[in-house]
Amino acid sequence: MNVILLGPPGAGKGTQARKIVDEFDFDYISTGDMLRKEVESASRLGKIAKSYMNKGDLVPDSFIVEMIVDNLGELNARNLIDGFPRNISQAEALNKKLTENQQKIAVVLHMNVDDEELINRLSTRAVCILCQAPYKLKSPDENLIVKCNNSPNKDCIIKVRDDDNPKSVARRITVYKNETFPIVKYYKDLNVNLVDIDARGTEDEIFQEISKFIVV
Ligand code: AMP
Repeated sequence: MNVILLGPPGAGKGTQARKIVDEFDFDYISTGDMLRKEVESASRLGKIAKSYMNKGDLVPDSFIVEMIVDNLGELNARNLIDGFPRNISQAEALNKKLTENQQKIAVVLHMNVDDEELINRLSTRAVCILCQAPYKLKSPDENLIVKCNNSPNKDCIIKVRDDDNPKSVARRITVYKNETFPIVKYYKDLNVNLVDIDARGTEDEIFQEISKFIVV
């Protein structure tokens, strides 16, 4: 069963993904998390991806499709895909791979939030550098060291993402509108099960809404 999370930066995809994984036992595939690990380890891909990510641009398809398609080869029973596809050509590559694997998209969860709220949320967001779990800062310059649920023996460093600065955020929202949002029509035309989620409420309210559409 493949569930796709689609939505602009700051819509809460990462937060909801972690709740879905805990509640429904999905494997979580996040292209953003994969890329950040590549950047962190200064791999060849990481070095290439870094400049695109910091500016708020998409990393070129040739790198992404290869990266995700390698993972899709090992897809298990329940997969939650976050951050992919990001444009029509990635959506086509995903369709091709799923068809080869005799798999389908069970549902696309399309999370909607207005721009003002997105900018607001991203200005106080930080992530754990080890497990990428998102945290909300009390103020934009707060720095935290907290116990992380995924690695209870270590102090995790909570850091503002390099691409959560106002310039990159504005660019990422524009890129979402121009390149990613057209996927909604693409999937509707293909009769893929796509549901619109009002992602303005509390984390728990949004999760309750999302849960209705995850039939396992
Ligand atoms: P995210 O964590 O999903 O917000 O992604 C952070 C950044 O990683 C994006 O702004 C892009 O630069 C890059 N990225 C993540 N997923 C993709 C993708 N499917 N295609 C191209 N670039 C991506």
